[in-house]
Amino acid sequence: MGKRELVIIGAGPAGLTAAIYGKRSGLDVLVLEKGIPGGQINSTGEIENWTGVLHASGAELADSFRVHAEHFKAEFLETEVSKITVDGGRKVIHTDKGEIEAEAVIIATGASFRRLGAPGEKEFTGRGVSYCAVCDGPFFEDQEIAVIGGGNTAVEEAVYLTQFASKVYIIHRRDSFRADRMATERALTNPRIEVLWNSVVEEIAGEDMLEKLVLKNVRTGEISELPVSGVFVFTGMDPNISFMEGLVESAKGGWVLTNERMETSVEGVFAAGDVRDKYLRQVITAAGDGATAAMAASSYISEQLHLQGVLLEPEQVTAYFFSSIDEAQARLATKIEESAGGGTKKVVLLDGYKNKRMVEKLGITNLPVIVEFRKGRIQRSKQVGSLEEAVEFLS
Ligand SMILES: Cc1cc2nc3c(=O)[nH]c(=O)nc-3n(C[C@H](O)[C@H](O)[C@H](O)COP(=O)(O)OP(=O)(O)OC[C@H]3O[C@@H](n4cnc5c(N)ncnc54)[C@H](O)[C@@H]3O)c2cc1C
Repeated sequence: MGKRELVIIGAGPAGLTAAIYGKRSGLDVLVLEKGIPGGQINSTGEIENWTGVLHASGAELADSFRVHAEHFKAEFLETEVSKITVDGGRKVIHTDKGEIEAEAVIIATGASFRRLGAPGEKEFTGRGVSYCAVCDGPFFEDQEIAVIGGGNTAVEEAVYLTQFASKVYIIHRRDSFRADRMATERALTNPRIEVLWNSVVEEIAGEDMLEKLVLKNVRTGEISELPVSGVFVFTGMDPNISFMEGLVESAKGGWVLTNERMETSVEGVFAAGDVRDKYLRQVITAAGDGATAAMAASSYISEQLHLQGVLLEPEQVTAYFFSSIDEAQARLATKIEESAGGGTKKVVLLDGYKNKRMVEKLGITNLPVIVEFRKGRIQRSKQVGSLEEAVEFLS
């Protein structure tokens, strides 16, 4: 399917924002999406925390993101990515519609909440069943609700939800929490929280909206009903990374590790949004990540093109690699540049501090160094500390 400049995998808030920023930076952008553009928000009823929009349905917001990306002429392809391979810097994305090579890739495939698997869960999602306290908590002002789970997220979110709900039941299958001591203590001493130990949800039921949970005590087998208008499921969340397992460094649970430029451990591969190891998984943070990733990818692509053109393609070229944050090295760079007018061979100056990965890729370990390339291969090199040493190398 040919080579593209920037390929974005996933058209959620992170991917679509990356597409907008990528197109506005003048890149050729292709967005790959296996489902409906917009991502997870398509499955939520209402969104009240996207800055500047007091109230929108998830589907409306998702659609406006897609329209915005299309306005800047981002190209979309409906397809599922099954694998990414990176070989000698060449990045190939494998899809059910063929292979696509990319100069840079942004992984924006989001995360999936682990479902309970109880009858009624799917039908009442967005009508009482939620997986996000920050998103949906305010809709349950003065109502009785339940939280399912016993880890830190469940216990902490239950405490958070007492700001809104008149009562929060925590339903947990064991007789103690996995959450840490402090979170547990905070929950157990909160007068609005009641824990139903050794209990599992057998069914989620109601008419139009959720009305009750059918519970089973796993010790006694006793079945009971719990009338609630909301239930928050916190039994875990997983990043959508099955197509790239082992490709990039990740934290426990598979969450992709990036730096603040959204760069992963693999050069030219960026990650944005919920798939990342991060503190807050929301639309606004995903969009912010997408913007950063696209700008970083854009600068990576122009850097690559520049370096390819000046360093790797010419028949013969000499380059001085220095660190721009070292005053002496930067001064020597200026002197070398000036001396070119006085008869010395022209030398390409390359800031090894800004182009760290390229320097590493070339096998250059110490700066400053002067290097002669022939057809992209290093012929000879020398550590230089003065103009005289540089001139000697060039003569
Ligand atoms: C029910 C619910 C309610 C929520 N409510 C709110 C709220 O009120 N406010 C808020 O800020 N946040 C809310 N969130 C969280 C918010 O939706 C996420 O933080 C946000 O969508 C993350 O964006 P993303 O782009 O990183 O990932 P996602 O939105 O998950 O998008 C990832 C996209 O990648 C696609 N994809 C995955 N794998 C592949 C593949 N292999 N090939 C091709 N495509 C692939 C998926 O189909 C998906 O479209 C809610 C989430 C849920 C589930």
